[in-house]
Amino acid sequence: MKAIAVQPGAGVPEVVERPVPEPAPGEALVRIRRVGVDGTDYEVIEGSHGGVPAGDDRLVLGHEAVGIVEDANGTALEEGQYVVPTVRRPPAGVETNDYFERGEPDMAPEGEYVERGIAGAHGFMAEYITSPADYLVPIPSELAEWGFLVEPISITEKALEHAYAARSAFDWQPESALVLGNGSLGLLTVAMFTTTLGYERVYCLGRRDRPDPSIDIIERLGATYIDSRETPLAEIPAAYEPMDVVYEATGYAKHAFESVDALAPNGVAALLGVPEDWSFEVDGGRLHRELVLHNKAIVGSVNSNRGHFEAAIDTLAALPDGVLEAIVTGIYGLEAVDRAFPKATASVPAGHGTTAAPDDDTPIKTAVEFDAI
Ligand code: NAP
Ligand code: BGC
Ligand code: ZN
Repeated sequence: MKAIAVQPGAGVPEVVERPVPEPAPGEALVRIRRVGVDGTDYEVIEGSHGGVPAGDDRLVLGHEAVGIVEDANGTALEEGQYVVPTVRRPPAGVETNDYFERGEPDMAPEGEYVERGIAGAHGFMAEYITSPADYLVPIPSELAEWGFLVEPISITEKALEHAYAARSAFDWQPESALVLGNGSLGLLTVAMFTTTLGYERVYCLGRRDRPDPSIDIIERLGATYIDSRETPLAEIPAAYEPMDVVYEATGYAKHAFESVDALAPNGVAALLGVPEDWSFEVDGGRLHRELVLHNKAIVGSVNSNRGHFEAAIDTLAALPDGVLEAIVTGIYGLEAVDRAFPKATASVPAGHGTTAAPDDDTPIKTAVEFDAI
């Protein structure tokens, strides 16, 4: 079968041949339909995040997938049912641990999990995958074409669950939200804030000139676009308003600290970005004082569990028509796989991989299609 793999650091993904996997007892065989690409995939491709499974020199990419059960293999799943796989698994050679037993692998510390398509385990960009049935979340067939968005939406379901939990000790009634970043995660989250979460005022920070399709999406959703080159994060409260919620999806490390200045009293910032090391100066006294005197909170959040996937399926069903079509700018078959990775830059000799040839206008979210829905 065909799969899309990368030698982390080599710069571009390539199509490789792999044997069709055999499901072990308790596992199902899934025929993959579509797999999304996000900022994390580029971090993996560049070699700055994640890594290959022990003993391998390449990683099969892909952690945002939807597929169809080909062989239920005696599990409770039904053949022909659409499913979305979760990302984390116990480390190689370990059947389970307390985090997986509790259904909270997203809270496991490093060393207690691998992430398929990201860190230590092959991903879902292949014609077939196997997975324990417990990690395959059924999705209604009418949503299957967008099923690859369940994983990224689940990331926001988790982050906001934790942010709300940090405010649960008092009567908190948030009205304003600021999303940092107009990439795919940021835009999906803007869509959630303006529609399913019902926020009155939503803002999104980017650094793009108009015209830009991401700005069009933000404005069509009724949110306000803010250009960080004109209005840096710390100046947003004066220029617009202090925010009840800040959701960081830029991976720009200064935003972790500047978010505190952008918050209203009693507000909470959820940090999602995964930056590389970067040393810079921060006024620690001011940061400490702001957090304490204004009851502010910062929550870091990574990954998501089955409950968040189930919530994400409900959210997906409730998002208004046209939003997903606008955010997903391209779905490509294996013959055009380079177009699914428009930001990958070739650093391998010609003929050893695909070469990035972005001929789409400002791609936002792309996906690879293995088998049409
Ligand atoms: P993405 O497509 O690369 O989006 C990041 C966006 O942030 C880009 O649109 C970028 O703008 C914008 N940006 C970066 N620095 C900025 C600045 N200083 N001011 C304004 N805008 C800025 O990535 P993504 O897939 O949406 O993911 C966002 C981040 O979340 C990444 O760091 C990713 O690793 C992380 N992530 C974490 C989790 C988790 O579980 N914690 C899950 C998914 C993703 P330009 O495009 O104009 O450069
Ligand atoms: C994935 C998460 C993963 C995180 C860190 C994100 O892009 O969506 O499932 O835990 O990266 O590797
Ligand atoms: Zn992701």
